[in-house]
Amino acid sequence: MKFNPANNIQDLQYFGEFGGVNPSISDSSTYTFISAKTMFDTFEGNADGCYLYSRHSIPSNLYLGEALAAMEGTETANVSASGMGAITPVLLQLCGAGDHIVSSRTIYGGTYAFLKNFTPRLGIETTFVDITRLDLVAASITEKTKVLYCESVSNPLLEVADIAGLSALAKKYNLKLVVDNTFSPLSVSPAKLGADIVIHSLTKFINGSSDTVGGVVCGTQEFINDLRNVNDGASMLLGATMDSLRASSILKNMRTLHIRMKQHSKNAVFLANKFEADGLKTVYPGLVSHPSHQLFKTMMNTEYGFGGMLTIDVGTLEKANELMELMQHKNLGYLAVSLGFYKTLFSAPGSSTSSEIPEDEQTAMGLSDGLIRFSIGLDNDIERTYKMMKSCMKEVDIL
Ligand code: PLP
Repeated sequence: MKFNPANNIQDLQYFGEFGGVNPSISDSSTYTFISAKTMFDTFEGNADGCYLYSRHSIPSNLYLGEALAAMEGTETANVSASGMGAITPVLLQLCGAGDHIVSSRTIYGGTYAFLKNFTPRLGIETTFVDITRLDLVAASITEKTKVLYCESVSNPLLEVADIAGLSALAKKYNLKLVVDNTFSPLSVSPAKLGADIVIHSLTKFINGSSDTVGGVVCGTQEFINDLRNVNDGASMLLGATMDSLRASSILKNMRTLHIRMKQHSKNAVFLANKFEADGLKTVYPGLVSHPSHQLFKTMMNTEYGFGGMLTIDVGTLEKANELMELMQHKNLGYLAVSLGFYKTLFSAPGSSTSSEIPEDEQTAMGLSDGLIRFSIGLDNDIERTYKMMKSCMKEVDIL
């Protein structure tokens, strides 16, 4: 693994074939060969610089993959059609029938549903644990365990995984540590802390314009080759390939990620402090009251801040809905799932993005009905936003 700084996209240099400052978009699904032998060699993976078929590899996707690998400090990366199109092949590549996964219990609802409902059909079992308790993680490892799975900052509860601690466990028991870093791009560099594989849903902060889904797996050349293997590679065979037009547009958006993350973090820390001072039950890794605030500080790349995600608990789903509808009405953001947009997005995860998690388990992990998850936008005047939000809260009797 290379350990590069979190943002070095400015050091990458790809030109279009006519000297364009952006790489040309490879707008072809298949590629021609002058000789049949080169085609055969390419299929066997022995002809560098040649392309065969775009589900194998395509220049536009490789450019984006290289930029993401540079950001995460891994040897290479493989982009995919969605975040789930990155997560599911990784887990299926690493595990087969009879294998076991230890996963954080607070993860994105889709990933949870995959591990809880889908992989058992293939003979893969998962134990869900409180990831902040390394003792519980260790106690859940059996001789069948192959993978430790977590999110750096979890969706939606914003629990922080001790990646270095988990990595030490993974090494001790010869497991792969897979970390979904979707909530904290640039702020946290999981590979630097010992993660073997780092995943992102590019749909969120990295693309940042809520116009596409996308995903990436960052890891060693060996693992990425395994995923792409034409005979038994899960990415290759499950086929969640990114389209080259999308790869090209995500690469362009990625160039401003560092600026956007700083602004998301700046706005989120401002609001989190204000909400907490107003007496709202507020969760944000940048608050001293967050149980993993100190841990996050030891893990973070300070200049990007504590990220753009925060939650408040307003007691009931009815109050949450009332507040969100009013804030949308006042143009303070959108009542929408997803994250990383220029506008603030808010939703009640219990009834939306985490609805795959059964109610009793939601209660056990502290996911209450009145929880509102905010992805704080890029507002230029966050003080004005705060004042307007506060007046909405007063109007619906939350403050
Ligand atoms: N990981 C996290 C943390 C997410 O929040 C999401 C989506 O909300 C995903 C993965 C899945 O990504 P996608 O919707 O791009 O498939």
